[in-house]
Amino acid sequence: MPVPLLPELAQVVSVTKGFMPDVEAAALYDAAVSAEPGVWLEIGTYCGKSTVVLGGAAREVGATVVTVDHHRGSEENQVGWEWHDEALVDPDAGQLDTLPSLRQTLRLAQLEDVVNPVVASTQSVGSWWSTPVQFLFLDGNHTEEVAQHDYQAFARHVVDGGILAVHDVFPNPADGGQPPWHVVQRAVDSGAFAQISVTDSLRVLRRVDGASFS
Ligand code: MG
Repeated sequence: MPVPLLPELAQVVSVTKGFMPDVEAAALYDAAVSAEPGVWLEIGTYCGKSTVVLGGAAREVGATVVTVDHHRGSEENQVGWEWHDEALVDPDAGQLDTLPSLRQTLRLAQLEDVVNPVVASTQSVGSWWSTPVQFLFLDGNHTEEVAQHDYQAFARHVVDGGILAVHDVFPNPADGGQPPWHVVQRAVDSGAFAQISVTDSLRVLRRVDGASFS
């Protein structure tokens, strides 16, 4: 049986701002703790809630987590939008800044040696990233353009048998935006990935051995 997320890390997850229910966090942890060690890549960090889940699993397995975010928030986090949080605004910059929250989260979780934050857009990181990835978690900007970009830029680096997890997947438009669902459909329809589990809006897929990426 895989080792469960340590209670002290579950406590940090519970007090960290973010948008992942416990049942999805548990499914993400289960998927990660069964993955191979090496480099695990998270796209979309926010304040580090799911990063602690991945970091806890990575500590068990001996993996390193790289988590990418420009830390200025997505559209829905900006002033006047549904998921804006005034407490996350840097008053000097007059802009959202979730990086201080991430640092606090990683310090509380004692995961600073396991998690490597990258503060940059996915377009920038995608232009130079070339490292094979054992576990990829796509949870970045959910516009169609960026969701497709992030899949195209990073899923190609998932090794044979490696894991792709996608968050906020809503096949029914009444439940949420469609771009992550379109990414899952593309991944499966292309033959590059096979779905292995569904937990609410979290999908877990596995890279098919020998399948070409498209
Ligand atoms: Mg999400």
